[in-house]
Amino acid sequence: MLARREVFPNVIEMNYQARQRLGCSVYLVHDANEWMLIDIGFEDTAEEIIDIIRQMDFPLAGCKYLVATHADVDHIQGLKRAKELLPQAITVGHPECKRLLAENDRIVTYAEISAQKISINLPPIKIEQTINEGDVLSIGSLKLDVWNTPGHTPSQLSFRLGKLLFSGDNIYRDGCVGNIDAHHGSDLPAFVSSLERIRDADVEWLLPSHGPIFRNNRAKLQKTIDRLTEYQHMADFGTCAVDWPLLEEWEDELVKGFDPEKAL
Ligand SMILES: [Zn+2]
Repeated sequence: MLARREVFPNVIEMNYQARQRLGCSVYLVHDANEWMLIDIGFEDTAEEIIDIIRQMDFPLAGCKYLVATHADVDHIQGLKRAKELLPQAITVGHPECKRLLAENDRIVTYAEISAQKISINLPPIKIEQTINEGDVLSIGSLKLDVWNTPGHTPSQLSFRLGKLLFSGDNIYRDGCVGNIDAHHGSDLPAFVSSLERIRDADVEWLLPSHGPIFRNNRAKLQKTIDRLTEYQHMADFGTCAVDWPLLEEWEDELVKGFDPEKAL
């Protein structure tokens, strides 16, 4: 039997467990004889991850849920394989995640980024049960509150377990956020609201979908919120911006004519 390396009581993260980087964060939450996985990652690591879980002496039949935090291929590509190995587990995700996977949408899921010559396999994946804001997932006596935290993408879910928040692609330990991209349905005002919600929540620890676990630090969250608030009025993320004040400045200048003295 493999020793369980819990990061918090009832919580194992599979990269920390393996002591090596397998891919996105894969959280196992367990209590009594039940357990669930929050994301599974790429297909080529799914079997290895489930084998480690078996070696840690978790009965495979005890897996109740396979959760998709959102539909991005690096989080869900292995779901089909995982479901084959854990047939009694219920695949769960946001309704929008279910739709994207049912339609095998290769663009929004990032399976296909033709301009960067990225083209990877997106197996057919069925989300069997949809979950959304206000729902609760039970594992043994544990209760995980489902939060919809849009911004990176409309279907982004987070899960609160007491003082822990499985925070998805909202924010990472270095203050970066999940990719902001119009083709992904990214929404800057919604992103700011989700980050404010996390900042103000009574949670001590953020367990993100990529990289190390970190404390819910107000100053760090605020710095990221301020950056994304600025992006709302900048051209950096194109149509994700709310407005671009420079264009109004330019309109003034067009009326008055170009003055080299005033061009900074
Ligand atoms: Zn991600």
